[in-house]
Amino acid sequence: MLPSNGNANNQDTGSILDVIREQTTNIEAHSNAHATEQAISDALRELASKERTVRESSITIRNTLELSSNPIAEIIEQEWVTRREQAPVSYWQDKTHSFVQFINAATKQVFLEYLLSLKTKEPDNKLNKLASLIEAPNSLGHGITRKEVRLEITNVRANIKAEIIDKMLEKVKTPNSSISQIREGKLHGPPGNQTRSLMLRVNSKGFNTIFVNLNGVLPYTRTETSTKIRLYPRINARPWTCRDCFFIGPNHTCMGKACAQCGSREHPTKDCKSKTRFCTNCKKRGHKAKDAHCPIYVREIVKEIKRMDIPLEFIEEEDKRHQLTKSLIYK
Ligand SMILES: [Zn+2]
Ligand SMILES: [Zn+2]
Ligand SMILES: [Zn+2]
Repeated sequence: MLPSNGNANNQDTGSILDVIREQTTNIEAHSNAHATEQAISDALRELASKERTVRESSITIRNTLELSSNPIAEIIEQEWVTRREQAPVSYWQDKTHSFVQFINAATKQVFLEYLLSLKTKEPDNKLNKLASLIEAPNSLGHGITRKEVRLEITNVRANIKAEIIDKMLEKVKTPNSSISQIREGKLHGPPGNQTRSLMLRVNSKGFNTIFVNLNGVLPYTRTETSTKIRLYPRINARPWTCRDCFFIGPNHTCMGKACAQCGSREHPTKDCKSKTRFCTNCKKRGHKAKDAHCPIYVREIVKEIKRMDIPLEFIEEEDKRHQLTKSLIYK
């Protein structure tokens, strides 16, 4: 494989070697994108049954000063798992909520009914403190709701008005669907031909409005200018990446700028002499730390997808999973 490292010595001379270099680079980019999509799709298939179980067998509890995650786990362990001899329960939390997952949906139901019965039977039981802090299930009956899905329409010309799209979405919205107002990204490109990204957030019902009812296409019509175009929203699943060392995912201690080609901290990318690539994320040769087909990068894309309120059918059913995978933005 010829190096394509953006080296200053790498200028086009118009020779046959440059032609070959360009072609191999194109083939490589194409097969890498394909490999990435395939890996994402495989990982999603694996995630499918787990994600349904999590959503159906968990409850969400509002954090209060008195009851943050630790006491919640203690109370449930003591009064439910130990005293009632129940199957193990798992716990996790974010800033505002604690989440409790039972072994299955039926056990969760038994727990909730038990909680209800304690009110009169054992008014002093510590579990009573939790009862009023449990969030009501969402419209699908799930006790946990993932974060709203980040949608992005890239490269939209500056004369396309966000409020016209907002109005159109308001009209097609179904009950229980949440579709945010559009937020506009920074303009880029040459004057007179500038474009920007349009961003919006949707819950799973809003997602269905756009990707099922509208089949993933937002029609845009402006009669005064007789503009009629179609916009394609995509799902922003970009993992966080460090601009300096290319580390993927949150929480890292940055060791400073690294070479994008070989991962060395001794020289900048443009001075790299290495003919081969080394990925500092998965510690393998053959690709760069910035490449999306790196298994670590794929894993983080899937984590991003998992955090969002994407309807389960889009993870479980092959056709819809394909549509989801094709609609991702991950770079
Ligand atoms: Zn870093
Ligand atoms: Zn290097
Ligand atoms: Zn890698």
